[in-house]
Amino acid sequence: MGKIVRAISGDYAIRMFAIDSTDMVEEARKIHDTSPVVTAALGRMITAASMMGVMMKGDNDKLTLVIKGDGEIKNITCVANSKGTVKAYPVNPYVDLPIRETDGKLDVSGAIGKNGNLIVMRDFGLKDPYIGQIDLVSGEVAEDLTAYYAYSEQQPSAIALGVLVDKDLSVKSAGGFIIQLMPDATEEQIVKLETNLAKIKSVSHLIDEGHSPEKLVEILLDGMDPLINETIEVKLECDCSRERMEKALISIGIKDLEEILHEDKKAEIQCHFCNKKYDFDENDLTKLIETLKTN
Ligand SMILES: [Zn+2]
Repeated sequence: MGKIVRAISGDYAIRMFAIDSTDMVEEARKIHDTSPVVTAALGRMITAASMMGVMMKGDNDKLTLVIKGDGEIKNITCVANSKGTVKAYPVNPYVDLPIRETDGKLDVSGAIGKNGNLIVMRDFGLKDPYIGQIDLVSGEVAEDLTAYYAYSEQQPSAIALGVLVDKDLSVKSAGGFIIQLMPDATEEQIVKLETNLAKIKSVSHLIDEGHSPEKLVEILLDGMDPLINETIEVKLECDCSRERMEKALISIGIKDLEEILHEDKKAEIQCHFCNKKYDFDENDLTKLIETLKTN
């Protein structure tokens, strides 16, 4: 389980989401068997997606966060619901890059690539989803997301996302925060926030030192009488099902299905997000084709 707290400054001028996502990122690392640099990149995406998920209001709202670059990971996709539940998929989980010499950190931007896009899709159950997109700023995720909020949503934000990978390659700590200025934030409050932001070192280290999301709020909204509005338990979980996989099979069309039926007599579909396998035998395939023909 991960934990998100939603907080606001006493004067309602600044809102904040803070998360401890250590368990979620470790779960994703186990599913996808990620290399350390991919664990860090995927972990930052999961951490952001979960917070962006709980910002949505409707029970069935869905958020898809995609980062696509010219690095070896190629693409990371995270899907979150409004409860903050996330599923995540890195196209290439095995990227192996040396530790970055300039700062001794995992080279996330090297693995994602500096040229590419960050895409945010929000599906509120209307005819078309809302889609926003920006060019990558650094490929480090947090900076790209900050730029996305600034340019695509005209929402000034301070965002930090961090993942510490342990010597045994498991996730030591993961977490982050999104702080957003409401339209009536004053210059004085912005300066105070900037002072607080300058005081902290990396967010993953803060969580590793045992700081809870509540403590992150206390540190970053120091001197602003912060109120915690809500504490939400969040997790990494896939929502795939046999019905959904049947729909995917049906979507390839009668002709291809018949070809599979005649040549292989079975089909196996694997979910990209959780690696669960779904088997369809001769009987299942025949039934699916019959369904297609009668509709
Ligand atoms: Zn799945």
